[in-house]
Amino acid sequence: MTGDGPVALDWLHEAAAATLAAGLHREPVVRREGQELLNLASNDYLGLSTHPAVVAGAHLTLDRWGAGATASRLVAGTTAEHVDFEREIADFLGFPAALMFSSGYLGNVGAITALVGRGDLIVSDTGTHASLIDGCRLSRARVVVVDRGDHEAVAAALAERTEDRALVVSDSIYSVDGAAAPVAELYAAARAHGAALLVDEAHGLGVRGPGGRGVIAEAGLSGAPDLVVTTVASKSLGAQGGIVLGPQVLRGHLVDRARPFIFDTGLAPAAVGGARAALGLLRTDPEMPNRLRRNVIHMAERCDIELPRRVDGTPEVSAVLSIVVGEPQPAVAAAAACREQGVLVGCFRPPSVPAGTSRLRLTMRADLTADDVDRAADVVLAALRRVGAR
Ligand code: PMP
Repeated sequence: MTGDGPVALDWLHEAAAATLAAGLHREPVVRREGQELLNLASNDYLGLSTHPAVVAGAHLTLDRWGAGATASRLVAGTTAEHVDFEREIADFLGFPAALMFSSGYLGNVGAITALVGRGDLIVSDTGTHASLIDGCRLSRARVVVVDRGDHEAVAAALAERTEDRALVVSDSIYSVDGAAAPVAELYAAARAHGAALLVDEAHGLGVRGPGGRGVIAEAGLSGAPDLVVTTVASKSLGAQGGIVLGPQVLRGHLVDRARPFIFDTGLAPAAVGGARAALGLLRTDPEMPNRLRRNVIHMAERCDIELPRRVDGTPEVSAVLSIVVGEPQPAVAAAAACREQGVLVGCFRPPSVPAGTSRLRLTMRADLTADDVDRAADVVLAALRRVGAR
């Protein structure tokens, strides 16, 4: 049917103009063959996405199982590759069991909504990733949000609750600026008040802890009771997929109840094959995370970026470096200036960060040479000067 009246989607033009005027419009960056940039915007922290062994692992799985999983995990979408990887990553991280989702986003939504619902409590904080926030919203539990890192407020919210069942939710490394959450204190607060703790290690795996086992391992909490860890194969493992770790009974519950597990097509086997090969490399070369951390410190020193601090004042080293510019327009201009000079950096603006804190976000990689880091630092500093941010 066509008519002459107003079109219901006309409001989109106004919304688009307002977004553009505020400097908040985004366009996906398209990577094209032959135009490669020095990439400081990816989550490929160990540089494994293009490692020959990882590509070969994906290829082998592709040849064996085809391009897609062909169905949801429960129906026909689980291959031996999926379950082998689940066992291997659970062993590596020191948990009894793991379950793979087709993304980290869906793993978080699936785990939270399967663990709490109407009549339960979630205590979360102001730094949590959007996928955790969306899981909290979809769960229909009451959600109390405390300041990032404020474990005493977490304990108070748990102590004051009327609900029996409660879940504390936190990132281990905050994705915006690379600061670490006080996971030991959060765990103690949760245990003291009969709550479970879910920690998202998306930015901790391959980056922190012994051999890259993450912040939870660093805190000595691997496999602890009432602890659920979520992580991803899409960052340091260079592939794709979400992973939820915990006791065997949790795995079974998620298989029965997590809607993104039940109703989503299983993760493409080739992505699992890539992740599995990457995990093998991390096991055999536990120095990789140290190479990454050296590059992070080098870049922070060259660009005079203050690293986030722990409570005891020691610097917090993760793959993410954040340079606050302020308003979105100069942040976008600085990122564009970097790109013109061959360096791709992230640019975070509202709603990803609070108003007035638009920033360049640099993610470092283990596979960069000291010369790469120096070149990137020169480009970033020149771009910041150009927009008056240095
Ligand atoms: N959690 C955190 C902390 C993340 O940064 C991300 C990815 N941006 C996700 C979860 C989602 O993971 P995926 O990209 O695999 O969906």
